[in-house]
Amino acid sequence: MIVFLSTRLLALYRSLTAASSASLVAMLTRLIQPSARPPAREQLRRGNGHDSGAVPARQCGTHPDCRAIHERFRESDVLRGVFERIVGASIAAGLVGGDAFSVDASLIKADVNKRKRSSAEAAPRWQAVDQASRAVREYIAVLDAASAERAADGGGNGRRDGETRKEISETDPQATWIARKGIDTTFYYDANYLIDNRFGIIVDAEGTRSSLREETTIAETMLGRVMARFGMTPQRLAGDTAYGTGRLLKWLVDRGVTPHVPVWDRSARVDGKFSKADFTFDRERNVYICPAGKELTHSGVIDQGRILPYRSSTRDCMRCDLKPRCTTATTRKVSRDIDEDVRDYVRSLEGTEAFAQSCVERKKVEMRFAHMKRIHKLDRLRLRGLTGAKDEVLLTALAQNLKRLAKFVWQSAQPGPMPA
Ligand code: SF4
Repeated sequence: MIVFLSTRLLALYRSLTAASSASLVAMLTRLIQPSARPPAREQLRRGNGHDSGAVPARQCGTHPDCRAIHERFRESDVLRGVFERIVGASIAAGLVGGDAFSVDASLIKADVNKRKRSSAEAAPRWQAVDQASRAVREYIAVLDAASAERAADGGGNGRRDGETRKEISETDPQATWIARKGIDTTFYYDANYLIDNRFGIIVDAEGTRSSLREETTIAETMLGRVMARFGMTPQRLAGDTAYGTGRLLKWLVDRGVTPHVPVWDRSARVDGKFSKADFTFDRERNVYICPAGKELTHSGVIDQGRILPYRSSTRDCMRCDLKPRCTTATTRKVSRDIDEDVRDYVRSLEGTEAFAQSCVERKKVEMRFAHMKRIHKLDRLRLRGLTGAKDEVLLTALAQNLKRLAKFVWQSAQPGPMPA
């Protein structure tokens, strides 16, 4: 059995380093479902019914046969099954420590022409397009689901509504327009990796739309999936500031995972006025004390489901000599996260030896992304739509893990330690 699996893994590994996306998909289907009958080589080459050969099969998303093949493959969740088998093999080989993980996300350009874009108001033009590409159909399905949910909650009329995003790609509407200093302004997806810090094995991977909210949500999903699938709960998780939200930190602490993550905090003022750090929280009385010694109280209102606003009294501020350094409004407001206690606990970890060690180990996930882009050329996606991004990210993570596994098998036969 071991010989059989090794032969298959090595064959898969050799193919992964050289094969195109379409042939990988076909190969993986054969690997996991030997009884499945893949399309004939000639069919794939010519486009599965595209007799003219004008449209290569891998670009087709509208021909009924091609749609059926692609959708059957995706529904089978074959890639995730293979990925989890490789992670399981890495655990069995002792490549996964299981006590310290790191998480990060990296932008990948979507396969679109950035000039083919429109404002969100143009989204309804897709409503009547039954023959739209898979990427557009996926986007419309997401909008429909959101509209139906709002209608069920009594918050809408069930009609398909456009989004509030400023720019939407006409070829891949789920990609996110990002205009940020230092990177090419275009449409992107995110690759999200959760790695084990011992040898950098990727224990989970997921392609998502590019947004901070998606990053923290998928971090929970990936960690929860690893806990459930492999029964591993790390003692600590390293991540950058994007993962330092109160919600995620609370989620981690509740599950016994120590977050070695800088706390997300935008309360520092750059205009010379007092910052939140200049106000002292009195836990017993549940008030903030301002630099003039006055109380800021909480009325019981919770903003956005998790922000507690504390306000000073108009009478105190009117008579205050420090007001020019405090606020231009009639009163001063200081916000407190509903999980601020957890945030304070995580702040207290910064500067510890273990936290510093996690910061060093976190570099390994950045190296995985560098490898992903430089060696596997995933700086630009080849498939469109969110499911295409998910497949490509998972496939690349799978290939990276296979390389690690093959390297370990080879190096374990050599004298000397295995490099991290
Ligand atoms: S302006 Fe109000 S909140 Fe600010 S220091 Fe003075 S009394 Fe305190």
